[in-house]
Amino acid sequence: MEEPIVVGRWVTRAIECGGLHLDGGAMFGSVPRVVWERCIEPDLEHRIPLATRLLLLEDTESDRVVIVDAGVGDKEDVSFRERFAVWLPEGSDEPPLRRAIRKAGVDPDRVTDLIITHLHFDHVGGATTLDAAGHPCMVFPSATHWIQEANWNSAIDPNPREKASYLRQNIEPLEGTQLKKIDGDGEILSGITVERVDGHTLGMQTVRVEGGGQVLRYLADLAPTRHHLRPAWTMGYDISAITAVEEKSRILAQALEEQAVLVLEHDPESATAKIELKNGNIVPVLK
Ligand SMILES: [Zn+2]
Repeated sequence: MEEPIVVGRWVTRAIECGGLHLDGGAMFGSVPRVVWERCIEPDLEHRIPLATRLLLLEDTESDRVVIVDAGVGDKEDVSFRERFAVWLPEGSDEPPLRRAIRKAGVDPDRVTDLIITHLHFDHVGGATTLDAAGHPCMVFPSATHWIQEANWNSAIDPNPREKASYLRQNIEPLEGTQLKKIDGDGEILSGITVERVDGHTLGMQTVRVEGGGQVLRYLADLAPTRHHLRPAWTMGYDISAITAVEEKSRILAQALEEQAVLVLEHDPESATAKIELKNGNIVPVLK
């Protein structure tokens, strides 16, 4: 497991909550297969393995424990799990999100806040589980759940292109929680700011943690793997590739300047990465 990184008042950990397989071509958009298959090798069904990696933040100055995103979760049936070859954290007596947090050495009962970057199933599915009667219910019913209002509106009335990613059972139970809908950029907790981006989906938010001269950024689907740290490498899933390129260029330029640690939600190998400038281009620092 990766060592925690202390960023000001926050002890930060990138933690794995299982993962899934998605079509390699869809993950790499216009990048030719001969190029991307050297980055991540596809299986016989042309899928590539992708982690669902979360960010766990423990405040050293209060009781707050924040989790960013929630993985796929365990509500879906066998055919869904097989289609995406989903794997979940070990253990079976509690929901996968709680297992992942416990495995990192933190008591899941301490979680006070969930920041959800966006409501696609591989980011929010794990925030809910099935109750004894088989109905979806929240894993952390008394936690505050943070989401961009624009993403919420998009998810409850999805466009045909994204309909398969916004599943009702992941979204409706959130209505009964402490749901904080955010409009745009801003500091939501001391040292934690969110920034709205719209290229991947309407109203996704990236998370920036700053303190003690350090910056850590959780990029969500703006750069799902270290290979996507090149601004032009967008996903076929992005609703607007050009918007995604512009947003990524801007955020990576800031990250370069502040020497930020970048947390990669879906990279199958690397939890974090840094970037550097090579011949005028932003590229990932490969270990
Ligand atoms: Zn997404």
